[in-house]
Amino acid sequence: MTAPTIGVFALQGDVREHVQMLESLGADAVPVRRPEELDRVDGLVLPGGESTTMAKLAATFGLLDPLRKRVADGMVTYGTCAGMILLADVIEDGAAGQETVGGLDVVVRRNAFGRQVDSFEADVSFDGLEPAGPVHAVFIRAPWVESCGPGVRELARVEGGPADGMVVAVRGGTQGHLLATSFHPELAGDPRVHGLFLQMVKERYERS
Ligand code: GLN
Repeated sequence: MTAPTIGVFALQGDVREHVQMLESLGADAVPVRRPEELDRVDGLVLPGGESTTMAKLAATFGLLDPLRKRVADGMVTYGTCAGMILLADVIEDGAAGQETVGGLDVVVRRNAFGRQVDSFEADVSFDGLEPAGPVHAVFIRAPWVESCGPGVRELARVEGGPADGMVVAVRGGTQGHLLATSFHPELAGDPRVHGLFLQMVKERYERS
């Protein structure tokens, strides 16, 4: 395929960093604020930000149901941090009535690392990256994955410290089309996780 068109959900969150990372990898990255824009993309990034605000804005701008539909139909989607929360089927410690896009059979705990650990950085090993090797992970008021359904693969866990063993990256969805990380590779400048995501987009179009 020619360069895939990747949307970055752009009603809130760290949109610019994702756009830059995707473009540095040869993708055509476009902000998505309206349903017509969502219709045109081959894959989507849900950035970090504030998941309750993102869900509310998505509903206000008529994007929440179209997003749910495209994700359910197999659009390859990558959620970082708040984006991971939006992809989760179940949210622990969500705001009252917090809505989600869903599709990823996981329970995600919001602000999981605790208020005292607003943000921290750690090297985590991450399955399936090219070239292999640990990822320097930046966590900012991050969620973690509390439990995974049967079709979900754990890709990374925190090693050491108070959050030792917690799952912070997964791949799942009915077609293995959903990728989610608690942390922000777009801020750390490591292109390999976005590279994995673009590879998933490519594989999806090779199949269809
Ligand atoms: N704590 C935020 C939320 O609940 C996520 C933080 C982030 O995306 N960096 O949405």
